[in-house]
Amino acid sequence: MNLSGKVAVVTGGSRGIGRAIALALAGQGARVAICHHADPAAAATLAEIKALSDGIAVDADVSDEAQVEALFDAANAQLGAVEILVNNAGILRESPLAETEAADFDRVIAVNLRGTFLAAREFVRRGGAGRIINIASDLGLLGREHMVAYTASKGGIISLTRTLARELAPHVLVNAIAPGSVETDMTSPGSMSPEQLAKDMDTPLARFGQPEEIAAMALFLAGPDSRFITGQCFGVNGGSVMH
Ligand code: NAP
Repeated sequence: MNLSGKVAVVTGGSRGIGRAIALALAGQGARVAICHHADPAAAATLAEIKALSDGIAVDADVSDEAQVEALFDAANAQLGAVEILVNNAGILRESPLAETEAADFDRVIAVNLRGTFLAAREFVRRGGAGRIINIASDLGLLGREHMVAYTASKGGIISLTRTLARELAPHVLVNAIAPGSVETDMTSPGSMSPEQLAKDMDTPLARFGQPEEIAAMALFLAGPDSRFITGQCFGVNGGSVMH
């Protein structure tokens, strides 16, 4: 696959799944803008991108309208018109419903769902034609106790994907990836309880995925071979969800 000449924005591209996607795209020649929300790992990831292609790293909170505009301003000015948008930035909070603060619920929805909406809107407002790839989660299909905001946000992303696929056809193809559990900071023992991590292992393949295994699907959706695919949600999940 040759993505030379294409410009991609990968939100939350500084580490984890977003980093793997950014490097996969850069590896095929795309110029890649990553954004993060003050992640010290961003500089190292940008150096890796630049070893493969051209790129920039922008400190931008995807839940903030002005910062999303600034992200696209920087990408346009320094790399060119954006043709591939990967909405990957996300956060997770774990708590029983009764103990979930409204502010925590709002923050998860703001980053995961509003952030996806804002970046997609900015892509389209600037005449973006190409691909939007939204990173959802298998939990957005399955539901999961103690993750009310996270699962709702991911279900919303899948629904948003279908609406945008209809509205933006044929110039923009919009698909989602719903990963199962992947080994990143989000699933580190300090971020999720042992009970949740044990549930995540209860799949046919009985292991966590690697970020590169999600990036492989993103690369396919960004490239020419996916040209007849829109409005779909692809499970890359070790068998946690079977349709
Ligand atoms: P991660 O390692 O925690 O990385 C998250 C990335 O998002 C970081 O670059 C982070 O940068 C960025 N980010 C967070 N809040 C942001 C904000 N407000 N604005 C801009 N960037 C922000 O997470 P991951 O595991 O790679 O997850 C990536 C995506 O995959 C998420 O949408 C997640 O829900 C989804 N997913 C993950 C799994 C899994 O098992 N890991 C499974 C299914 C779906 P900062 O640190 O600077 O905020």
